[in-house]
Amino acid sequence: MLELVDKLEKQTILEKDELIKLIENYDNEELREYLFEVARKVKKEHYGNDVYIRGIVEFSNYCQQDCFYCGIRKSNQNVERYRLNIADILQSCQNGYELGFRTFVLQSGEDAYFDDDKLIEVIKEIKNQYPDCAITLSVGERSYESYKKLYNAGADRYLLRHESANDEHYSKLHPDNLSLQNRKQCLYDLKEVGFQVGCGFMVGSPYQSASCLADDLLFIHDLQPAMVGIGPFISHKDTPFNGKESGTSSLTTFMMALTRLIVPTVLLPATTALGSIDPQGREKGIQAGGNVVMPNLSPLNTRKNYLLYDNKICIDDKPSDCKDCINARIESTGNKIVIGRGDVVSNK
Ligand code: SAH
Repeated sequence: MLELVDKLEKQTILEKDELIKLIENYDNEELREYLFEVARKVKKEHYGNDVYIRGIVEFSNYCQQDCFYCGIRKSNQNVERYRLNIADILQSCQNGYELGFRTFVLQSGEDAYFDDDKLIEVIKEIKNQYPDCAITLSVGERSYESYKKLYNAGADRYLLRHESANDEHYSKLHPDNLSLQNRKQCLYDLKEVGFQVGCGFMVGSPYQSASCLADDLLFIHDLQPAMVGIGPFISHKDTPFNGKESGTSSLTTFMMALTRLIVPTVLLPATTALGSIDPQGREKGIQAGGNVVMPNLSPLNTRKNYLLYDNKICIDDKPSDCKDCINARIESTGNKIVIGRGDVVSNK
């Protein structure tokens, strides 16, 4: 099996059954050790010991969609809904800027209140005040024209996890109005518009098999995204997936390492969800080839209302505390946080 890792490192995409074989053996210690070593080496070739930080601003938890896994889905009546105004968003960026953040990730549910004009105003204001910073949007599915306008307003990157690249599995995670085909189309549109694009998926989501995860890797190979967000599924009590088993950090980090080999220059976060199911999760993610961490810059009083899953970490931590904690964690892996936009490098 180690030869399959070598093949991937040489940038040969494996057959689906080879990927499945690797994934099914994710708990084989020898395989893990070898894969993670190669993933770290590849990360180092492109990014040295650098790890990038992104500050997330969760600016609205209103959502018109009803994804079965997500805590802020439309049907969840127990969520106290909120929207940040532009002054609050800018204040969050200000706090982040002082701490060394040079990328702001604006994330929300699919909230029609934030139409193109409102988002353009936010983007322009941030770019005006922080011309040296990158803006990443994570606001869901929109039209090609909308993506184009947001890009032209100055947004640099766009995160839209594909969630599952297996049609049948996708339809078990989402209501009928959402389709994998449209999600993929959005990703190809975003790329064509010019964004640095991020896709991604949850590990251990209900009904997911090794074959589904292999489809995720094949899709990533096809899309060649700049970023890939991979985190464990964690159940939320007020969703149809209440009580379903969560994903594990060991399979999540395994999928991260494979992703590093499939897209060597990928910006690969050690996610908050990974840190939420395992106290050492983010360190393990970095050791598996990750090179990004995304602490929360949202105002403290709204954080408890942006819960996509239960037991989310850092909901009471001030950004400055988060920064110190993250710094120590990253240094413990032999890497260092850098102050800078942290754009994707071209594949050498
Ligand atoms: N509305 C935006 C942002 C979604 S929230 C969009 O559609 O892209 C960001 C990500 O959180 C989702 O893409 C999903 O992969 C993840 N997420 C949602 N619920 C989760 C859960 N219960 N466990 C783990 N991750 C979850």
